[in-house]
Amino acid sequence: MTAAAADSALVLFSGGQDSATCLAWALDRFAHVETLGFDYGQRHAVELSCRDTLRRGMASLNPEWAGRLGEDHTLAVPTLGAISQTALTREVEITMGEEGLPNTFVPGRNLLFLTFAAALAYRRGIRHLVTGVCETDYSGYPDCRDDTIKALQVALNLGMERRFVLHTPLMWIDKAATWQLAQDLGGDALVALIRDESHSCYLGLRDTRHDWGYGCGRCPACDLRAKGFAHYAAGR
Ligand code: ZN
Repeated sequence: MTAAAADSALVLFSGGQDSATCLAWALDRFAHVETLGFDYGQRHAVELSCRDTLRRGMASLNPEWAGRLGEDHTLAVPTLGAISQTALTREVEITMGEEGLPNTFVPGRNLLFLTFAAALAYRRGIRHLVTGVCETDYSGYPDCRDDTIKALQVALNLGMERRFVLHTPLMWIDKAATWQLAQDLGGDALVALIRDESHSCYLGLRDTRHDWGYGCGRCPACDLRAKGFAHYAAGR
């Protein structure tokens, strides 16, 4: 692997607040940064259409970032929608299930995403994988846990005979601190870009603008985003 490739990163980039912040984090650190999005039939597919706007916005904020931003990849994984019956892929109400997980949980989603990402990174000669999973505010998704990611890093490195490093810059911070991280990385302009162009709403709604961005304002993702932004704004 060349030195340049070792300093390359692949960001799992959905177009949501967390992954947008991770993209800025990676652009701040790595010489070459590529992005990867997944289309699995999610109801909030509008998230995917936010990706290009965010990428272009970040490149225009910072010439150094523009020089580092590389290719964008999208992988269609319709199988995930076919095998899961969740509120993210079906037209059903978002509720809490018996096992204490919201029915937005797509079993194994992050395991699959990171495995696909590693396979792509392998082919591209990229060493660093960046994902916005988080244990702090998380909705109880077991595949967002630090131990899950660490175990997967070991499995991927053994299974592909590589030395991938899985980065989780948001693992131990809450949503307010995620907004603060964006502020630290790119100032008010980056916060405004992520607020206006990233998408979190599970229902895929972008017709109403709130002070924290667009969304239905009622689903768990909007609720978490609104509370985090209010907390961040109050602390400034
Ligand atoms: Zn919503």
